[in-house]
Amino acid sequence: MSDIKKSGKKEQDRSKVKNNRSPQPDINRKGIKRENYNEHNQKRKLNNQSDKANSGKVSRDKKTVMKKQQVDKSNENKCIYAKKCGGCTYQGTPYSQQLEKKLTEVRRLIGRYCEVTGIVGMDNPYNYRNKVHAAFDMTRRGEIISGVYQEGTHEVVPVEYCQIEDAKSDEIINDIRGMLRSFKIKTYDEDTGYGLLRHVLVRRGFKTNEIMVVLILGSPILPSKNNFVKALRQKHPEISTVIINVNDKKTSMVLGGKESVIYGKGFINDILCGCTFKISPKSFYQVNPVQTEKLYGRAIELAGLTGKERVLDAYCGIGTIGIIASKKAADVIGVELNRAAVKDAIVNAKINDIKNVRFYCEDAGEYMEKYPTGLMHADGQNNANGHIDVVFMDPPRAGSDEKFMSSVVKLSPKKVVYISCNPETLARDLRYFKKHGYKAEVGEAYDMFPFTNHVETVCLLSRQDVDS
Ligand code: SAH
Repeated sequence: MSDIKKSGKKEQDRSKVKNNRSPQPDINRKGIKRENYNEHNQKRKLNNQSDKANSGKVSRDKKTVMKKQQVDKSNENKCIYAKKCGGCTYQGTPYSQQLEKKLTEVRRLIGRYCEVTGIVGMDNPYNYRNKVHAAFDMTRRGEIISGVYQEGTHEVVPVEYCQIEDAKSDEIINDIRGMLRSFKIKTYDEDTGYGLLRHVLVRRGFKTNEIMVVLILGSPILPSKNNFVKALRQKHPEISTVIINVNDKKTSMVLGGKESVIYGKGFINDILCGCTFKISPKSFYQVNPVQTEKLYGRAIELAGLTGKERVLDAYCGIGTIGIIASKKAADVIGVELNRAAVKDAIVNAKINDIKNVRFYCEDAGEYMEKYPTGLMHADGQNNANGHIDVVFMDPPRAGSDEKFMSSVVKLSPKKVVYISCNPETLARDLRYFKKHGYKAEVGEAYDMFPFTNHVETVCLLSRQDVDS
């Protein structure tokens, strides 16, 4: 049975969790866990951060932002862009209520299959996103703007500072915008195809402070690229790599196919649960590393690994879960569809000096269907021997599919740890597993995306005959 406190119990005494490997956060009567969460502190932190973001050369726009923030006394934390941007469903909702709503939703959707013990919230639910994207455009008055697309449109809403994005990344984007005129770089016009800069993507390793800047251009040539990089790095020496990505298609996808590195090594590293991970521009990496550490720590704890198990990490991305779990398993197999991510995963195993992990680039369901014979895997290795004991599965929002799940059921691992970013598809998949002999023992929600209506859930399923 899990050692998570159940809802209905009193607030946990923090001194009791001192010696835990990964301290369990406080849980209140409603099942909401908060780690030293303190509304007052958190507001102060936000103000400090926004001050930092606005420090230095204060433009007219920045002054306006600060003024509006001061004026908005009725709800100090409410974002001034909320109405136009539409990215945050819960703007203006106190954080504790956001957590309650998310927990209620998860319980509504999966409660019939699984007891959901609580939700783990953030100590400071601001500026958590390590990946920031800005679209660039020009107003009719010829002013260069950068920000987000207004919901359902391709109209750019100018944004200087976002409550949920990394403040340093926002600063970099603002400075790039400020540099464009002097470098005679025009913004790209989606209708005419005229101009150059479409988007900027910034990714920061929160633990390593390595920063990646991706300039997404409509055509491959950036004028005076070396001077541009030099000027940008003069303002932000922390930038460790700059990449040009060319997207010359009429598409709503941000990144195009071609890439060239104009500064640094073309990727950044970050550290998660004590392991180092290489992250390329196109690889998936969780956007909230603070919560990811808690979630993955818990997922691995739920698997109850003893060092003897063969583990499958399905939908493994750059190999995070499998690599972290490999220290407690006999061996790990990772499977993932995105080739760039698999390449990163293979390098990641090497960086961490981990030898008991193998990665395959394949559809997870197809891989699993072949697993028992194992003769057709990409690298020609035969995995026929070796029963899979534990499956971690972390599919995209669409959830898993019958091909994958029916193969899992056939292989009958003792435990399946399901990590889901969409409780609706999780509910559908839990129903399938229940029908085929797996019991959902325990579920726990994690708030990976404060202020949005998204929520992550981890769920432990056990083969029923094992329990009985
Ligand atoms: N576990 C990883 C990635 C989770 S995101 C992490 O936490 O970082 C989901 C991943 O599933 C993405 O990397 C995506 O490329 C991959 N994916 C999507 N459909 C897939 C499929 N049919 N088979 C295998 N992987 C798939």
